[in-house]
Amino acid sequence: MATSIELPPGALVLLIGPSGAGKSTFASRHFYARQILSSDAYREIVSGDPADQSATAQAFRRLHRECHARLAQGELTVIDATNVLFSARQRFLTMAAPLDRAVVAIAFDLPLERCLAWNAARPGRSVPTSIVRRHWVFMQRALQHLPEEGFASIVVLRSADEVAGCVVRVAP
Ligand code: ATP
Ligand code: MG
Repeated sequence: MATSIELPPGALVLLIGPSGAGKSTFASRHFYARQILSSDAYREIVSGDPADQSATAQAFRRLHRECHARLAQGELTVIDATNVLFSARQRFLTMAAPLDRAVVAIAFDLPLERCLAWNAARPGRSVPTSIVRRHWVFMQRALQHLPEEGFASIVVLRSADEVAGCVVRVAP
């Protein structure tokens, strides 16, 4: 059966998953470009290079600022970043709470081999295999803790078929 994701209006959606899990592909399939705040896009804005890890702190400062502005306006917002670390997720949850916005987690719990294969299939840059593996290990820990972190709902996608069959609706 297809996974159906119902999003409250003005929700904050955190995509959570290792590099190569298909987060950006999913985001562009289900959301408008203006709704998506991507860590790669902000790295490119601040340094000219989406892969420049030294730009990460500055990129996230900008991304967080824009996220807060969008949530305050009641605009549905999707965070396209790995979000595999607790501290990264917590930052968004504490931002959304006083604004009374629901935070929805969409977790990409795909097999490591799938992430590695998709990472290798990427046009242009691919992320070093060791980094995909590290993210994947962090992801296993994240999956255990998500239920206690304060999300309004958590959707876990476990296979390429589940990702492909997923339907996203924004509640009126
Ligand atoms: P990163 O965290 O490094 O940005 P990501 O999770 O955003 O990674 P994507 O860029 O979406 O990963 O996917 C990597 C590659 O995997 C894509 O370029 C595409 O080739 C392939 N891919 C992703 N999702 C799918 C899918 N649902 N079906 C087929 N191929 C896919
Ligand atoms: Mg991506």
